[in-house]
Amino acid sequence: MKILVAEDERISARQLKAVLTNWGYDVVVVSDGLAAWNILSGPDAPQLAILDWMMPGKDGVELCRDIRKLRQEPYTYIVLLTEKSTRQDVVEGMNAGADDYLAKPFDAQELEARLRAGLCVLSLMDEVIAGREQLRHQATHDLLTGLTNRRAVRESLTQELARAGREQTSMAVALIDVDHFKQVNDTYGHLAGDAVLTEVGSRMRARVRSYDSVGRYGGEEFLIVIPRCDIHTALDRLNSLREFIAESPVSSPEGPIPVTASIGVTSYGGELATPDSLIQQADIALYRAKRNGRNRVEIFTPAETLCST
Ligand SMILES: [Mg+2]
Repeated sequence: MKILVAEDERISARQLKAVLTNWGYDVVVVSDGLAAWNILSGPDAPQLAILDWMMPGKDGVELCRDIRKLRQEPYTYIVLLTEKSTRQDVVEGMNAGADDYLAKPFDAQELEARLRAGLCVLSLMDEVIAGREQLRHQATHDLLTGLTNRRAVRESLTQELARAGREQTSMAVALIDVDHFKQVNDTYGHLAGDAVLTEVGSRMRARVRSYDSVGRYGGEEFLIVIPRCDIHTALDRLNSLREFIAESPVSSPEGPIPVTASIGVTSYGGELATPDSLIQQADIALYRAKRNGRNRVEIFTPAETLCST
């Protein structure tokens, strides 16, 4: 465990370093508040810090305030080192964001006990953060395929559309539907159907750029948001994705299953559009891809809006 000691009195700093090193900590010692700030606000900052109250540069209480303002994660557990120990001083330090304090000259046993409490808090914090991240992941991802879910991919679409409008760039939106998926389920069973969806999902993920968004839109339907891309480039890329999906059968508990997908794509180039209108356009094109024999990509043409309404 890395620990920062910020203490301008040399003897006290040396004693702290000796004791902490002896306890197995990886100790970094600085002698002023600005150096401490640089370390604590930088990358890979120690999660434990012992800060002297009175220091040149920035005092311990100021440091506490500034660090708390950063709202960093992971959390920094701060013990203030002080010759002041009237109740009011302690309250001031704690209000500034210190977790604990230690009176100088320090008592090694007391320090050990306070650090033990700190480690306990840090490990609880880690668990809370990990739990929250897991919940966030669950709320935005599809359990089966690991892709983003309907809500999250729609959110990406909304953001990318706003960005394309702002930056006056074009973007493409595609709906992808696994062909004859009901037949796969009926013939091979639902486990095999799940294997097909999972594999198609991972083939899509392997073929999109890192800044494209792919999500499971529902059932056997997927949505891809392709920012900064005109319709011709999108068509090329979706055709190569379609070929990649169809290239080899998906292995499933029931044996290899041939799989193809139909794709409908539309583009945005500055006209009035909403996420819903783009999805609807991609859906109209997808319908045509199905009608024209599946395993193909079709581009939405504006004339179709009139036909379909
Ligand atoms: Mg001092």
